[in-house]
Amino acid sequence: MTAETEGALRAHLLRSDRQEDICLATYRPSTGTTRRTSLLRQVHLPEPGEREVHGNATITGDYVLRVAAAAASAGDGVVLLHSHPGGQGWQAMSGPDVDTESSYANLVREITGLPLVGMTLAGHDGAWSARHWDHSAAADITPTYSENVRVLGPELRVTWNDQIVPVPGRPSTLIRSVASWGPSRHADLTRRSVLVVGLGSVGLDIAVRLAATGITRLGLMDFDTIKLHNLDRLIGATATDAWLRRSKLDLAQRLAAQNATASSPVIDSFDLSICEPHGLAAALDYDQIICCVDRPWPRAVLNLLAYRDYIPVIDGGIAIDVFADGSGMRNATWRSHVLYPSRPCMSCIGQLDLGAIAADQSGALDDPAYITGNGQPPGAAAGGDTPAESANVAVLSVSAAASLLAQYVSLNVAPGGLGEPGPLQYLLSTHTLDHLKAARRPACPVEALTGFGDQAIRMTGPHPAAEHERQYRDSHSLHPGLRIARYLDTTLSWTRARLIADAKRRLGL
Ligand SMILES: [Zn+2]
Repeated sequence: MTAETEGALRAHLLRSDRQEDICLATYRPSTGTTRRTSLLRQVHLPEPGEREVHGNATITGDYVLRVAAAAASAGDGVVLLHSHPGGQGWQAMSGPDVDTESSYANLVREITGLPLVGMTLAGHDGAWSARHWDHSAAADITPTYSENVRVLGPELRVTWNDQIVPVPGRPSTLIRSVASWGPSRHADLTRRSVLVVGLGSVGLDIAVRLAATGITRLGLMDFDTIKLHNLDRLIGATATDAWLRRSKLDLAQRLAAQNATASSPVIDSFDLSICEPHGLAAALDYDQIICCVDRPWPRAVLNLLAYRDYIPVIDGGIAIDVFADGSGMRNATWRSHVLYPSRPCMSCIGQLDLGAIAADQSGALDDPAYITGNGQPPGAAAGGDTPAESANVAVLSVSAAASLLAQYVSLNVAPGGLGEPGPLQYLLSTHTLDHLKAARRPACPVEALTGFGDQAIRMTGPHPAAEHERQYRDSHSLHPGLRIARYLDTTLSWTRARLIADAKRRLGL
C-alpha cells in the first residue's frame, strides 16, 4: 500500500481509547511469476450503524455487501482490516479474528471473484500482517499467510512474516555493514529482494555491491552480449568474455556470486528484456527495482510498473556532453530519483520521452540514419553500449552507480529518519548537487494508472533485439574452436567457484 493509504487506515484503526477497530478497503491483484501481491486501493470507512466497538470490534453484513458490490463493479477485491492496539510485530490470528474473516470469505469471493484479504495492524509498532482466504474444498477454510506487507512512501517500510521468510544468518564478514545500520535493520534490509535491470557499467557495479552487502535475494536482468567496446567500462570483464561472446548477465552473475556475503544468497538471472512478457512477470516478484537501462521502451515499462504495481523503481544515469567538433568534454551530468506513487514519474521529470517509445519498439533507434538525424536518444543514459547511447567512461559511471545506491540506502534505511530525497542532479563542471523541483503533471497518463495492477496495459511484446542477441551467443552458432575455448573458460570459472565455496565452508561462513 502507499503511505497515504496507510495514513487513512491508521487514523481509523488506532483509537485514542485504545480499543480495537475494524474497516474495509478494496484491492487489485498484481501477479508475477511466483508471487501475487494485493495492491490496496481505496479505504471504505464504515457508515453509522455498520460497525460496533465494544472491546472487540464487529461489522454488519450490510457493510460487507456494500463494499463488496463497489469492489465488484470496479474489478477489485475486498480487504478486511482490524487493529491489535497493543500488538507488536507480525500478528497471529485470534479465534474471533479467524471467525470473522472466515465467515465473510466465501460471500466476498462469490461477489467479487477474488479472495478476501485479511490484515492486522499492530498498534505498538505499526507492524502489518496479512493473509488471503483462498477457496478450499475443505469445510474449514484456512488462510494463506503472506510473506510480507510493504508500505511505500519516502521510506519503504516492510513487515516480515518470520515464519515464512526467516531472519537471515549474519556471517562474520558482515560485521561492518551491520554496525552501520544496526542488526534489526540489517535483517530487514537483506531480506528485501532487489532486481537490477540493465547490467552495463552502472548496473554491474550496483549488482556486485548489493551482493557484497548481504542481500539475500538478488535478481539480474540483461540480454546483451559483451563486445570489445564495453571493455573500457565493464569492470571485471576481460577480452576472453568478448571473444567467447559471453553475456553481461553471465559476467554479473559470476561477479555477484563471488562477492556475495549472505549465508545463502539466491541470485536469479534473467536473459530477457523487461519489455518481454516473461521479463516483466519476473520483475513483479521483487520488492524494488534498480533501473540501469537507457532505451525509451524498457524505461517506459519500468516507469509504468512503479505506479501500476507499487514497486519502487530507483532510476538514474549519466550523460556526458561533448563539444560538437569532438574537441573535448563540456560537462557530465548524473541524476538519480525514486519512482513511486506521490513522486513525479520519469516522463514528468523529463527523463523519458513518451514519443520515442514507438521508435524504440520499431528498431529505429538502431538505425544509424535515425541517430545522425536526432543526436542522442531521449532519456538518461546509464552506461549502455549501442551506438545510439551516450558516451560514458569508467571513471564517471561509478558516480552514477553511487548516486543510485545512495537513493537505495535512503529509501530502505532512512538515515536520520529521512527517506529518499527526491530527484537529484550532479553537474560535474561546477561540482554542484541540485535537488530538482519537478512537479507531477495533473494529467499524467502514467500516474493515472496508479494501483491498477493486472488490469492496466503492460507495454510488453516481442523484442527482436533481445532475440537476436540470444541467438548470436547460442553455442550452435559458434565456430568449434570457440566452443572448446568456452568450455575451458566455463571449467575454470566453475573451479574457482568451488574453491570459494570450500573456503567459505572452512572459514565457517
Ligand atoms: Zn508522470
